[in-house]
Parts: sequence; C-alpha cells; structure tokens
Amino acid sequence: MKRKKPCSFVEKCGNVTANGNCMTANGNCMTANGNYMTANGNYMTANGNNSNDEDGTSNGKQCEYCMQVFSRVQNCVQHKKICHEKECEVRKLEMKTGTKYVPVPSKTCRFCDKKFSRTRKHQEKCKKKEIYKKKLQNLVTKMDVEITKVKTTHVTNNTQNIGCTNVTINAVGKESLEHIQLGKVIDMIEYHNGKADRASKLCVIAGSMVADFQKMIREVSENRNLKVSERKQAALINRNGQFEAEEVNLALDDTFKSTSSHFYNTMNKLEENQKQQFKRHTREIHNEVYQLKNDGLGGMRTRDEAVVRKRFKLANMEFI
Ligand SMILES: [Zn+2]
Ligand SMILES: [Zn+2]
Repeated sequence: MKRKKPCSFVEKCGNVTANGNCMTANGNCMTANGNYMTANGNYMTANGNNSNDEDGTSNGKQCEYCMQVFSRVQNCVQHKKICHEKECEVRKLEMKTGTKYVPVPSKTCRFCDKKFSRTRKHQEKCKKKEIYKKKLQNLVTKMDVEITKVKTTHVTNNTQNIGCTNVTINAVGKESLEHIQLGKVIDMIEYHNGKADRASKLCVIAGSMVADFQKMIREVSENRNLKVSERKQAALINRNGQFEAEEVNLALDDTFKSTSSHFYNTMNKLEENQKQQFKRHTREIHNEVYQLKNDGLGGMRTRDEAVVRKRFKLANMEFI
C-alpha cells in the first residue's frame, strides 16, 4: 500500500489532536498513515476501503495487540517490540477470549471513553477498566470449566465411538470436496445473488455463501471436524487428526478462513468450466471471498461480522 499523506484532510477539518491525528465530524479518527479509524475499531483507507482488506494481520502489517495498521511489515515488527498493549492484562484476557479490541482516538481511555492527558496513568485506577477486567476473568473461568467438561465428555465419547464407527476425520483444511456437485454450488450462488438487494453488503453475501458451502462440506461425516453447540464457549476442533477443545470463536475463525479458501478454489473451477468470465456481481463476490480467506471474520465491520459469524456457527451445528 502506498503511504498516504493526511495533510489535506487535516487542513480541512482542523481538529487535530496532540499526536497529529484528526477527528472527523462523525468522530472517526485519522491516523498518521492516512487511514481512518472508525468507532468499531476498523480502519478505513482514505478511499473508503476497509484497510483490513489490504493490511490485515494475515500479511503482517497489523499489530495484533493494539490493532494499529502499518504501511510496511518492518514498521509493524518494530512497533510490536514496544507496543504498550502487549503487556496489558486486560488485552491478554481479550485475546484469550477472542474479544474484539476497539481502538479509540489518542488521549482517550478505551474503557471509560473519557479524555486524559496521561491515559496510562489514569488507567491504573480506572473503575470501568476494573469492571471490564472482572467480566473477562469470569468469562475465562467459565471457558476453562467448559473446556475441561468438553474434554472429559469427549474422551468418553471417543472410546464409545471406536467400536461402532470407523470414520477417519479429515482435519481442518484437509476436507474432501469430491462429493460436492458443482451444479449445486451454482444454484447456491444464484440463490444468494437473487436474494441480495442493493443495500446488501458484499461481505455479508459472500460470507453467507461460505456458510452454505460449509454445510455442503459437512454433508459427509468425515468432514465434520468442528463441533460447536449453542451456548458453549468451548468447541472441539480437529486440526491434526484428533479433536481438541478450544475457544469457540477462535475455532470458528480458522475454520471460516479454511472454508473460504475451499469456496474460492471451487469458484475458480466453476469459472474455468463455464469457459467465460464471471459476470460483474459474481466476480465481485469471488474477490470478496478472496479477502475472506485471508482476513477471515475479523476483517469485517463489527455488525457484518456478527451476522456472518452467526450463520457460519449455525452451519457447523448441523449433523451433530
Ligand atoms: Zn501495537
Ligand atoms: Zn478510564
């Protein structure tokens, strides 16, 4: 990505904060590299693209602790050595529980939203921070209890299963796709394209297709390598030939990327077969699926992510 200069924008609004960032009227903040940061923690580039598309953590330009996006991988590596969020206890808990980090403009406490000249000094005694921390700690405890429970049940189930079923489960990413008929995939794509109206977001349409493709993958029992349930914080995921308990959102994130990749390749095959290029809308979907396989659910805006995550979770609850 080319480095963008914030100057023109800063001049326009004149509302520059101490570190040179600029607040727009709608409360978005423009960082030094010219990206906007929205309230829900996503970055927007000056041309309106969500910069996670090009700068996602997947290509090493985003700090996973403070979510800051850099124009070069090297800058990001340097930053991570001194990132102030890296040692933060609350941030550690957020990462453990798969809770999204919501960045705020500088000089603002991200827990109570108030402005301070020395935010970190304030945070030593911020009450909202303590409450939030307790909430996350409770979540971790709940998660640990569930994971232990799931592990125990799993061991029992596993022994029972050995006698009656002889299915070798394919690990995540290694699913077999032979049973999937391309005609059905075309129908599914057309169904979603037909349902979408002008207001529908591409990432939500593409994400819903990925969820439906996941249902197709799971039609054969050897591909059912993820077990999630309605309210449980723990999932069972088969990454290397055996099931392990894991936080449900982390398990969903990786599976979603993997299925997006399968779907992307299958769409390639479809385009090859029909011997002509996709029409405009389908091509846009195909490009969107490419982003999904790289950035996953986390690359979307919070609201879109919630919709797609739910659909994808439900897709994984079939056949259980
Ligand atoms: Zn950082
Ligand atoms: Zn505070």
